[in-house]
Amino acid sequence: MVRHHPERFELVALGALGSRPAELLAAAREFRPQALAVADPAAAEALRPDLPAGIRLGVGEAALVELALHPDVDRVVGAMVGAAGLRPVHAALAAGRPVALANKESLVVAGRLLTEIARRNGAEILPIDSEHVALHQALRSGRPEEVRRLALTASGGPFLRRDRATFDRITKEEALRHPTWSMGAKITIDSATLVNKGLELIEAHWLFGVPAERIDVVVHPQSIVHSFVEWCDGSWIAQLAPNDMIFPIQYALSYPERWPNSFARLDPSALGTLEFLPLDDERFPAVALARQALASGESAPAAWNAANEVAVHAFLAGRISFPSIVEVSRRVLDAHRPGAVAHLDDALEWDGWGRREAERVIATLASAR
Ligand code: MG
Repeated sequence: MVRHHPERFELVALGALGSRPAELLAAAREFRPQALAVADPAAAEALRPDLPAGIRLGVGEAALVELALHPDVDRVVGAMVGAAGLRPVHAALAAGRPVALANKESLVVAGRLLTEIARRNGAEILPIDSEHVALHQALRSGRPEEVRRLALTASGGPFLRRDRATFDRITKEEALRHPTWSMGAKITIDSATLVNKGLELIEAHWLFGVPAERIDVVVHPQSIVHSFVEWCDGSWIAQLAPNDMIFPIQYALSYPERWPNSFARLDPSALGTLEFLPLDDERFPAVALARQALASGESAPAAWNAANEVAVHAFLAGRISFPSIVEVSRRVLDAHRPGAVAHLDDALEWDGWGRREAERVIATLASAR
């Protein structure tokens, strides 16, 4: 985005886990931020000798939080996965800074906490997730009390029409081949299981303050309509754009303005047939599990999300079958006794519990095989 709009943006600071040092270094060389922070100390030290002169390098979580509070920063993009990304986002919101949020898990793990701190400090959370960017735009055509329902669209992933009897033979390669979006491995697997849509339902609930009973999921294999809002008068407002993340990212960074760009456009006359189908909860139980997690207590989405993450990695490592991914998170959710999430540390503790419990369930599945 900075490359597309060099006259509008300055990349002030860049933070990362440190797992992709070559890309981080390339970004530092191209955009010359004032400061860099890397969560992993070993990765930071490996990077240091190659860093261009004049870029300050901070190490660890505290350095990441410091970047989010840098005096020259006026918008923070939260795209870092896991606990390391949670604290800088929290710090930015507490300081009243708008945060464009690509990491939906942070709202799943600590949704009430983050949205409350944002409201109290007048900070805006802007989604980067395409469905939520669609809802954010559609919601601008009326007042919150006039909203009847939200409908999230789901591509249905690569196994929408595959014979269910063969789901246990699904390979890693098949699951990583998403029909419409190009994304990282974790979210691509989440899209194949539809866990991603469950996470997005929870995300939409917190972002827009709409109860889960009034958020539907509609399967739309072409991924052109990115979501809908139904209004009390019977009107539906949808948002359409090519299925390229550059559009939602620009929206989150330019809001409340709209900026011209030269990205490839949608041609409505060339769209042909767009399909919309009901979600099959038996084939894809993940969305129902997300509803169960949201209904069963504040800590449950954090535990469920953590279990899913562990299960996805176990599937990618060849330890469990494709249907077992959702089965692991279901068993963890069923075993969970919900508690409160009053602080970030609580959220992280429930996250840790979910991970340990998932490992235990995976071990039982493996010994039963
Ligand atoms: Mg999405």
